[in-house]
Amino acid sequence: MTEPASPGDAVGPRGGDRPAVAVVGSVNLDTTVRVPHIPTAGETILASDTASSPGGKGANQAAAAAAAGAAVRFIGAIGADAVGEAAVAGLRAFDVDLSELQTVAHAPSGAATVVVADDAENLIIVTSGANDHLDPDLVAAALDRRAGPVLLTQLETPLAVLAECGRARAFAWRILNPAPISADPGLRPLLAGFTLLVPNRTELAQLAGLPVPRTIAEVSACVAALGFDGDVVVTLGADGAALYPAGGGAAPEAPRTFAPPPVRAIDTTGAGDVFCGTLASGLAAHGDLERAVADAVEASARSTELPRAQLVPGDAAVAR
Ligand code: ADP
Repeated sequence: MTEPASPGDAVGPRGGDRPAVAVVGSVNLDTTVRVPHIPTAGETILASDTASSPGGKGANQAAAAAAAGAAVRFIGAIGADAVGEAAVAGLRAFDVDLSELQTVAHAPSGAATVVVADDAENLIIVTSGANDHLDPDLVAAALDRRAGPVLLTQLETPLAVLAECGRARAFAWRILNPAPISADPGLRPLLAGFTLLVPNRTELAQLAGLPVPRTIAEVSACVAALGFDGDVVVTLGADGAALYPAGGGAAPEAPRTFAPPPVRAIDTTGAGDVFCGTLASGLAAHGDLERAVADAVEASARSTELPRAQLVPGDAAVAR
């Protein structure tokens, strides 16, 4: 369900302005450690390499929206520490507006440790830290202060923040990427606040209470079981994406499907984030959902050829 943009809404570049996207979400510093094997309890091993890079779904999606040409405002939280500054460095490089970034005094910045073994097995430990303390009242005030056509959020911040995003009706497009999916019963009632849901197959299955769909018919059955009033775009990994426009209800028509271009995928981490950021940027620029999905499939597929989750300015060509 897409509410018509009012005449005053910035649905496209006006007066040379870039299309505006507000992203509410997480920001982390990821530390990747390469080891010969995953250590067992009590074992000490030597790493062959350690590298830090900015991450967090919210920040990754904000970077992707900026790479696709949007003027992005990021609303999230870091701790009062150097990790937080390093975590937002990627967003600064894209000139993302960080004026609504909250600094939490009593929690560390979000951080993830990714341990990768020579056989590609991995282990990930996440400290949510400040992301768990993003203040819903401050988020609501920030969204009230400046509305735009598009608001994008995920599930790495508190449900109380999600509720505020769903209430921000001045945003014509309120997009939820329900990742990482949560079994919290408080999530389901909040979906109705959004106009567009963008789950992957696993997230869709969990929301629908059905097995992970393999065929398009099974994906359609999951979408029908959701009973969601708005638009649904399901990302399908190497199979691209499927669009279910609002109004299909319990019997959605066959979706419009979008196949990715041929790519040599080397790292699919963060592909869903590139998808969501590009989609948001497209909707802010022209409001045409089919066109925005097509561009998001293309950009996310190309991003799998890059060895990183968060895009950097030199990657802007990914999003054309
Ligand atoms: P997530 O990363 O959230 O699990 P998906 O795996 O569905 O989400 O991937 C998101 C998007 O990235 C897909 O819709 C597709 O466009 C692109 N993508 C992911 N994996 C591949 C792949 N192996 N080849 C081409 N495109 C891919």
